[in-house]
Amino acid sequence: MDTPLQQLQDPLLQEHQVELWIKREDLLHPEISGNKWRKLKYNLQQAKRLQHHTLLTFGGAYSNHIAATAAAGKTFGFKTIGIIRGEEHLPLNPTLRFATSCSMQLQYVSREKYRKKDDAAFLQELSEQYSQPFVLPEGGTNSLAVKGCTEIVQDIAIDYDYVCCASGTGGTVAGIVAGLAGEKQVLAFPALRGGDFLQEDIQQLVYTYCGHTYHNWRLIADYHFGGYAKVKPELLAFMQAFHKQHHIPLEPVYTGKMLYGLFELIRKGYFPKGSRIVAIHTGGLQGNAGFKERLGVEV
Ligand SMILES: *Cc1c(COP(=O)(O)O)cnc(C)c1O
Repeated sequence: MDTPLQQLQDPLLQEHQVELWIKREDLLHPEISGNKWRKLKYNLQQAKRLQHHTLLTFGGAYSNHIAATAAAGKTFGFKTIGIIRGEEHLPLNPTLRFATSCSMQLQYVSREKYRKKDDAAFLQELSEQYSQPFVLPEGGTNSLAVKGCTEIVQDIAIDYDYVCCASGTGGTVAGIVAGLAGEKQVLAFPALRGGDFLQEDIQQLVYTYCGHTYHNWRLIADYHFGGYAKVKPELLAFMQAFHKQHHIPLEPVYTGKMLYGLFELIRKGYFPKGSRIVAIHTGGLQGNAGFKERLGVEV
């Protein structure tokens, strides 16, 4: 499960005398990309051990986690059920097309109902309807997911000072923080507006997993570009230039925003001279096909 670590050459980095390395978790698996594979790993083992035949999970219509769960089910022999927020739109977008091509069964629920996705009564109803599936929460985040994400930092073979990662539910950053056990500085870039709730959520996820509270991490909450999955021309321009210069594709929901923010911090002199930074490419590139269809732009 080792993924490559790739050093960037960029005049900005030279000017500020910092090093930036990209940890290519996007290359972990062709279909179960990046952090979603890390988050599924121990959950799939647990589902097998408990002799479940079906995985059930939740997500929006463009969800990387829905795509990853569908592919993992196909690969490892589980039936999969996706509870999708909102109404069905035909033809299916590329994410849901892919999910159904992996035999995931989709059930659409209203936004109101979707909000109950963690309520015991709704989960009980789904459990009966689909004969006792193994339930993964939205985004796949639970303690077993945090455990899987501790492994992201285990195989980084260089010494470094900072690790940067995009954050949605906080599960991935929680795993990184727990895996580092107080070492290094971790910067989490929320992909949502008002991502300050992650302060508590990440702390709680770390504590539930390992019983410790760490303070060597912080949220960088200024680079959400208006909200979850919202884009602005300067973000798309940055991603395109980045891809062209470094030959590393990004996506606009998570990794594009994180790297945009990270470059801004470097420009502002946030990092002391000589700092070595590792940025986690969490994958999610499957989402780009949907962006292209929706916005008509190449990302
Ligand atoms: C889901 C996702 C994230 C966010 O992960 P969380 O564990 O929910 O914080 C980050 N990057 C990519 C590419 C993702 O698909």
